[in-house]
Amino acid sequence: MRIILLGAPGSGKGTQAEKLMEDYNLPQISTGMLLREAIDQGTELGKKVQEIMAAGNLVSDQIVLDLIRESLQQPDSANGFVLDGYPRNINQAQSLEDLLNSINKPLGSALLVDVDSEILIKRLSGRRTCSITGKTLNVYFSSEDEINECIDSGGELIQREDDNVESITNRINVYKEQTEPLIDFYKHKNLLKVIDGEGKITDVYDRVIKTLEL
Ligand code: ADP
Repeated sequence: MRIILLGAPGSGKGTQAEKLMEDYNLPQISTGMLLREAIDQGTELGKKVQEIMAAGNLVSDQIVLDLIRESLQQPDSANGFVLDGYPRNINQAQSLEDLLNSINKPLGSALLVDVDSEILIKRLSGRRTCSITGKTLNVYFSSEDEINECIDSGGELIQREDDNVESITNRINVYKEQTEPLIDFYKHKNLLKVIDGEGKITDVYDRVIKTLEL
């Protein structure tokens, strides 16, 4: 299975990618996650991208292409992969196509996780990560029990640097301008599949499995 997950920030594509990775033993390749790791580790790359990401802008195509190329060379992606957050514009989609053709592993599907923009803003502005369990929580949607589980174990609810309203609005605009054209790009290549990304995580996941015919 070689798939990419498309969707606006907050559409939940990362969550679905994680579930696929667990169930089908595939590596989830998330450019956002790789870049955040670089920032946390204080590498040269991390220093270069920190401000750009905090503002919600895209980092350069060359930087993410290098990350993707390296990840695809790892032995664990030999049997397939789930790309999450890449490609994010037409140029990246073309580079990805060239790269995959050069290793004889063309893409199987591009799955769009579709979510209404009003819901996106609540999901993103309310998103927190528990510093102890690493679980993703949401101050609007998580139950009191889930939140307390973190607090009672001594954890803190951490907000991602780019989950503030200004950056969220910018990320959604960048998505509309640069990433949405990929929907037509993949439609023309007969690779596009669309699922409704609203509702419970497990219900969305059921749709993913059904749509990808797994
Ligand atoms: P989200 O989709 O929720 O905004 P991600 O974790 O996928 O979060 O990405 C966070 C940030 O990382 C983006 O706003 C952007 O700055 C950077 N980024 C991630 N993937 C790419 C990419 N393919 N091209 C350029 N920048 C990227």
